[in-house]
Amino acid sequence: MAKAIRAEVASGVASLAERGLVPGLAVVLVGEDPASAVYVAGKGAAAREAGIAERTLRFPAGLPEAELLATVEGLNRDEAVDAILVQLPLPAHIDAARILEAIDPRKDADGFHPVNAGRLLQGKPAPVPCTPAGIIELLTREGVPLRGTRAVVVGRSDIVGKPMALLLLRKDATVTIAHSKTKDLPGLCREADLLVAAIGRPGFVTGDFVKEGAVLVDVGVNRVTSRADVERFFPGNAARLASFDKKGSTLVGDCDPATAFPRASRYTPVPGGVGPLTIAHLLKNTLELCVARRG
Ligand code: NDP
Repeated sequence: MAKAIRAEVASGVASLAERGLVPGLAVVLVGEDPASAVYVAGKGAAAREAGIAERTLRFPAGLPEAELLATVEGLNRDEAVDAILVQLPLPAHIDAARILEAIDPRKDADGFHPVNAGRLLQGKPAPVPCTPAGIIELLTREGVPLRGTRAVVVGRSDIVGKPMALLLLRKDATVTIAHSKTKDLPGLCREADLLVAAIGRPGFVTGDFVKEGAVLVDVGVNRVTSRADVERFFPGNAARLASFDKKGSTLVGDCDPATAFPRASRYTPVPGGVGPLTIAHLLKNTLELCVARRG
């Protein structure tokens, strides 16, 4: 499905090219966080493959906040740049909210700007954060019923949980947002026809959280480095164990593959589920921002 979305974007980009327009995406990476470097490389490659003019600006971890602000302001003024993405997390000495707010809302590739968050809240057109947008598209294209559905979103971040809940609400689901202070989380989750886990804890959602036949969306991406954990999450999965033994780590979502997935009627695996859709949506946002701003 991610491939299909990317192909649709590529064809949109090609039709703009006939009119001499090339959508431009600027990606800003500060520091040497290995996971961020992998994400940025993946986003850049996917953008170029779709015909988007992608530019990655790399800075050392010690970059002063003022210089990052100046960079963002320069990109705001750059006519060739339609979409700006500042890769998170930023180093601790930089106020991430201040940087995100400095991005021109019309060039906000991730949809994290407060203006766009407000527009999303009010149901107005806006770039939508890529992960929840990708998930909604996945559910819609797969024909998962949303209207009237009892949905529980675990996690209330501005990046995933809150926009996910708003998009589900827009699709007429009945939505509950859960978080670390929620009482009887397993009981609440068991009420869900659709359960979205965006927590950041490996295998946290066990079978006990899942109503038989529910649809499970696993957003979490967690690197596990203990062999015992891998054996627990993937019992009898020789390929996973072999890969772990080779690399010394493996990726696990927020759902326990051994106990949660078997209870679900459908689920998104980690890796290879939500992640590729997130990247596909970044390309879609870039194309839409180009069309909206340049006409
Ligand atoms: P945050 O850390 O910003 O938010 C985590 C949320 O989970 C918080 O709202 C927190 O609650 C809640 N939480 C933490 N512990 C518990 C608990 N024990 N019980 C209930 N709720 C809990 O993370 P993000 O939203 O940015 O990301 C979530 C996960 O999704 C991460 O693993 C991240 O790597 C992954 N991710 C994957 C993407 C993809 O493309 N696949 C893209 C973005 C993120 P509280 O607010 O009370 O602290």
